Amino acid sequence: MAETFDVIVIGGGPGGYVCALRASQLGLKAACVEGRGALGGTCTNVGCIPSKALLQSSHLVDEANHAFAAHGINVGKVEVDLAKMMARKDDVVKQNTTGIEFLLKKNKVAYLRGWGRVAKAQSGAHEVAVKDDKGNETTYVTKYVVIASGSDVTPLPGVTIDEKQIVSSTGALVLSKIPKTMVVIGAGVIGLEMGSVWRRLGTDVTVVEFLDVILPPMDGEVRKQMQRILEKQGMKFRLGHKVTAAKPGKDGVEVTLEPAKGGGNPEKLNADVVLVAIGRRPYIAGAGLDQVGVKVSNRGFVEADENYQTNVEGIFAIGDVIGGMMLAHKAEDEGVACAEILAGHPGHINYDAIASVVYTWPEVAGIGKTEEQLKDAGVAYKVGKFPFTANGRARANGDTDGFAKILADAGTDRVLGCHIVGPAAGDLIMEVAVAMEFGASSEDIARTCHAHPQLGETVKEAALAADKRALHI
Ligand code: FAD
Ligand code: NAD
Repeated sequence: MAETFDVIVIGGGPGGYVCALRASQLGLKAACVEGRGALGGTCTNVGCIPSKALLQSSHLVDEANHAFAAHGINVGKVEVDLAKMMARKDDVVKQNTTGIEFLLKKNKVAYLRGWGRVAKAQSGAHEVAVKDDKGNETTYVTKYVVIASGSDVTPLPGVTIDEKQIVSSTGALVLSKIPKTMVVIGAGVIGLEMGSVWRRLGTDVTVVEFLDVILPPMDGEVRKQMQRILEKQGMKFRLGHKVTAAKPGKDGVEVTLEPAKGGGNPEKLNADVVLVAIGRRPYIAGAGLDQVGVKVSNRGFVEADENYQTNVEGIFAIGDVIGGMMLAHKAEDEGVACAEILAGHPGHINYDAIASVVYTWPEVAGIGKTEEQLKDAGVAYKVGKFPFTANGRARANGDTDGFAKILADAGTDRVLGCHIVGPAAGDLIMEVAVAMEFGASSEDIARTCHAHPQLGETVKEAALAADKRALHI
């Protein structure tokens, strides 16, 4: 007889494994199906974690090349052992994937290795078939199914990814030598993070972006400042352009670009490596959703309501596969909320207080509304801004690029958004996330005693500036 579960989660990424852990904590018999041979999904295997390992290593190279001398530290010529850097990154990934496996075991979640498919939708007793790497299929019965199958790279017509000369983020994480030149297609998060890694290691990086701006969803002032900083670091931008073809050859890849709005002559660029980073799309191949009638949107996202319930009773969906912000922490929190709903509790996420962070250096972080969004919505708001050049710790660290900006409602002073370019911006923004969760005003942040000397005093001063009473500028 088939083994039965209360919930089977298809996909072992941050959405899926966290959902299974929380379900088990709440007393449900839970299983997590994963086909890639390791838990942690895109994030741990080929996303957040390996990219941050390389960002950290390459940041140290940059510091040694450009910052040490100002501290009186002379290191001579800095040499990069790329194979060792990559091995360290792989080791970091392994520590994380095995750590997640340990967590599942500790929490009594069954780890079903293989590709999962909803074989039969039957209220209260759905069937999930799992095919292992030897081709053997085992069928399980479950009250609930959670689809957490994540996302995949969006392809670009005319540009065939071979993961050698023309790479996606996955290939960009495993290059075996430092390219002399790289064309990055897309000035989004992946383009700027992976472009920064290779630029710091010595690659001449040109980023081609369809729109006239980098990091399109971010606050306008942040985008402009960050572009200036990245240009100062040596990254080149071709904004308002699209790549129409990329032909790999013996001497690199010939890239054709044209003005995005049409007109003008096509131009050619040559690069050792081309990185395609124009977004990600939902991944549902092989999960059997069409056979059991789960509705997907015309862009391929699984359609789920505010309780993560799809149109088929007992089948739920979370994470990248349902769209919205394609972020690991959003997927994780959906995993928790969904498990809580399945266990009969209220599950809730405040989608207005999810931070986005770009792990360049300086980092870029944003939460809540941008100035552009507030203007478009006709909301009366006030702005408080404070530069890192006026922060004592930033000066001591030699890291003064950027600013923090707080947007608050003009009438109530409630914090509506915060945008930071600066050192450790991703950590600094979290105090604003907590403030927003508690419905705080900018005065609440301003009156909170911030330890000195800390980079976070920049956030406090931005809050003071919203009331035109910044102290240190
Ligand atoms: P995924 O992590 O995509 O996991 C889905 C899993 O399901 C996969 O492991 C897949 O193998 C498995 N699967 C699919 N179908 C089946 C099936 N039928 N049977 C069994 N298993 C299946 N986000 C951040 O918040 N911070 C970052 O710094 C960050 N950096 C990133 C860097 C890169 C280079 C990339 C590509 C992404 C990054 N992201 C980052 C985004 C983040 O990785 C995703 O938002 C997150 O992984 C989504 O989680 P998920 O659980 O929904 O899906
Ligand atoms: P993205 O959506 O962040 O950026 C894609 C960029 O490519 C956009 O600026 C877009 O205008 C541009 N573009 C689209 N088509 C183009 C074309 N034909 N030519 C030139 N430019 C084009 O996508 P991404 O950088 O690929 O990242 C994918 C997802 O992964 C994002 O949703 C992101 O949230 C997630 N991610 C997050 C992090 C992080 O949180 N630090 C890091 C990496 C990835």
